[in-house]
Amino acid sequence: MKSNRRNFIASAAAIAATAPRSSAAPAPAVAARYRKLDDAMRQPVLKKALFKSPVVIDTVELLRLGNNFICRVRSRDGAEGISVAHSSMSTFFPIFLRNLQPFFIGKDARELDLILEKVYIFGFNFRLNGIALGLPLATIEFAILDMLGRIASKPVGQLIGDIHNPEVAVYIATEWREKPVDESIRLIKDAVAAYDARALKIKVGGLMFMTTDMYAQGPPGRTEAMIPLVRKTFGDDFALYADSNSFYTVPEAIRVGRLLEKYKYRYFEEPVMFDHLEEIKQVADALTLPVSNGEQDYSFYGFRWLLANDGLDIVQPDNYYFGGLIRSMQVARMAHACGKQIIPHMSGGGLGFLYNIHLVSAVPNAGEHHEFKGLNTHVRFECKTSPLKVVNGKIKVPTGPGFGVDFDPGWVAKHQTVKL
Ligand SMILES: [Mg+2]
Repeated sequence: MKSNRRNFIASAAAIAATAPRSSAAPAPAVAARYRKLDDAMRQPVLKKALFKSPVVIDTVELLRLGNNFICRVRSRDGAEGISVAHSSMSTFFPIFLRNLQPFFIGKDARELDLILEKVYIFGFNFRLNGIALGLPLATIEFAILDMLGRIASKPVGQLIGDIHNPEVAVYIATEWREKPVDESIRLIKDAVAAYDARALKIKVGGLMFMTTDMYAQGPPGRTEAMIPLVRKTFGDDFALYADSNSFYTVPEAIRVGRLLEKYKYRYFEEPVMFDHLEEIKQVADALTLPVSNGEQDYSFYGFRWLLANDGLDIVQPDNYYFGGLIRSMQVARMAHACGKQIIPHMSGGGLGFLYNIHLVSAVPNAGEHHEFKGLNTHVRFECKTSPLKVVNGKIKVPTGPGFGVDFDPGWVAKHQTVKL
């Protein structure tokens, strides 16, 4: 966001850019933020003190039913946790079995923070960095956190933080950027009407920078028509957000951002290419509208640079792609150290919404509304401590142990062990 501090940093950077190379040290404000960020990254996340004796991981199983996967973890003492995998596990399961599963066997789950660091080194796994590693890793982490929560009789939020948000307000994430305006509005209205929500996100621009030849585009002028029309359709009290999935150049993102500002949208997500950090900052510097980014990130260091250089306003790690809730919590803490918010990216399907609301429950710097892609799921489970419905725009976070859901044993039993 535009601020005196940002202007100060921009002018300091301009001075540094013209100074001799040897004196181009970070401006004091930037250096101070780096110190805060590194301190935040060093803080332990999992509360080991909740566990008096070792929780030795005995088995880590990947189980399959059709094209869907779950992970079941058991300790030597017979404790158990289960997680539901993202649909992309059908692509990445060999990495789960070869590169991750062996590293966890025999480890003390109380050392999960350290295990999550070391597993990136194990077998040169860093070479697979990205969703290929993060997604199966998160699946194992969720199962371990579920098991640890059951041992400690606490919800996951209390294992990795304190409960700040017992309920999570959601926005309906909509798509259809390739559709004409009238059809888009009709589809968005139907999607919003399906839930008792007060917020929504629209897609603007095309999909990914320089890809007009690869993906279907909406008609010319769609974005410029949609931004005011969605505001008019839903009224001034509705919270609106916009996402361009990295489509724009810096000047185009600033142009569209100003239109979003005019119609009082709340943030602009991935306005330019997601890993072009300097360009993200240029857009953020130019707009008063908050800029968000992070769903494609797999390293702490992109977030670190953007936060240290006041280059964005909202961090958005994906709980699966980024490798689990502990790593996402570290990013949340880094953002908090710089006075910024987190609105994690949420993968749809499975129990993505459940993992997301547990993380949000435990962060002090959550944004006002969080991504939501519906409650439809193939998973058979019950939850005794929350209806898991959107009521008055919010979902109550389960308070039972682990993730607070119990899977139908008959449904779990239908799954078959996945082997290489
Ligand atoms: Mg997005």
